[in-house]
Amino acid sequence: MLNGRLKILDIWVDAVGRAEAAARVRCFLEDGKRPHCVFASNPEKQFTVPKDPVLYDCYERADLLLPDGIGMVKAVKMLYGLDIERVPGSEFIFEICRIARDLGKGVFVYGAKEEVNAKSCEVLAERFPGLRIAGRANGYLKEEDMPELIREVNTSGAEILFVALGSPKQEKWFGRYKNQLENVKVVQCIGGTLDTIGGTVKRAPEFWCRHNLEWFYRLMAEPKRMGRQRVLPLFAWLVLLERVKMMLRLGHGNTKAS
Ligand code: UDP
Repeated sequence: MLNGRLKILDIWVDAVGRAEAAARVRCFLEDGKRPHCVFASNPEKQFTVPKDPVLYDCYERADLLLPDGIGMVKAVKMLYGLDIERVPGSEFIFEICRIARDLGKGVFVYGAKEEVNAKSCEVLAERFPGLRIAGRANGYLKEEDMPELIREVNTSGAEILFVALGSPKQEKWFGRYKNQLENVKVVQCIGGTLDTIGGTVKRAPEFWCRHNLEWFYRLMAEPKRMGRQRVLPLFAWLVLLERVKMMLRLGHGNTKAS
């Protein structure tokens, strides 16, 4: 385990709770000299990241991999015996906004449809009075608009950038443009989170989250997610097999997790 990073099958997750993840973001902002990326690690990634060399490279070099779903929390328990807290990326954005407000750092919000992006910025500004939204852009810009977008981000003075293009587009965007970001120190890839902040998609109510059933609620609310979520039982099965393999290796005197 390097710096709390655990291998889960073919991907990784950082064994951090909310407070430690927030502390790392503060460090990135206070001492960092380059853009640090915060990605979500969840069971779906097991079936996308290893298949795509560019995405794999982005994940392997990520600065912070949040335990985004209950699947990861259970996998960490089963493979390493550790109890970790779930830190959904869709909630962690609020933590980063709080830090930004407290430290006086500007945020730039890139992604989602124009009206969703605009509404999300309004909601964030209302929820965190004093937060400086340094700039925003919808996620449907063309490739040829990228130099202008990068110029806007750089001149805005934002040190935090939220990228909401969905996975893997957002992680690849970071991999491709990170070297052109001059002032940004933290980039969080937030997937469809703006749709829940400024759009029509509802997050699961507290009850479902508390009982680790947010995935089920989202499935009921958006049945089209079925395609993605059918990987969850397969993930659970692969983790179980990995556990059995570890126990067999232990039986042969090897005590290390692969
Ligand atoms: N999106 C975007 N530009 C694109 C494609 C997608 O801004 O070219 C946005 C889309 O509007 C939505 C988000 O990316 O807000 C994708 O949401 P989804 O729930 O599919 O992403 P996930 O959280 O599963 O990665």
